[in-house]
Amino acid sequence: MQKIMESSIKKINGMVHDPLAEDGGQKSACNLCMEKFDSEIRMEATLKCGHVACIKCLTEMSEKICHICRKEFKNEEIIKLYY
Ligand SMILES: [Zn+2]
Ligand SMILES: [Zn+2]
Repeated sequence: MQKIMESSIKKINGMVHDPLAEDGGQKSACNLCMEKFDSEIRMEATLKCGHVACIKCLTEMSEKICHICRKEFKNEEIIKLYY
């Protein structure tokens, strides 16, 4: 009984920020909004330059420029990474 409760609490804590807590950081969270990637709104996506951010940030960006290397990109060049 106790064990089940503990693990569900852990899950909830994991969802409340600290995107780097799981799997050693990197790639599990968007560099722009700092939110974890998910399979819907914040789907992980990559640009032609190979840099990664969530699909929400990339599509809502007013200037389509890579946040890391400053390379311009178009909406249709965003590659969704499905899980
Ligand atoms: Zn984002
Ligand atoms: Zn880039």
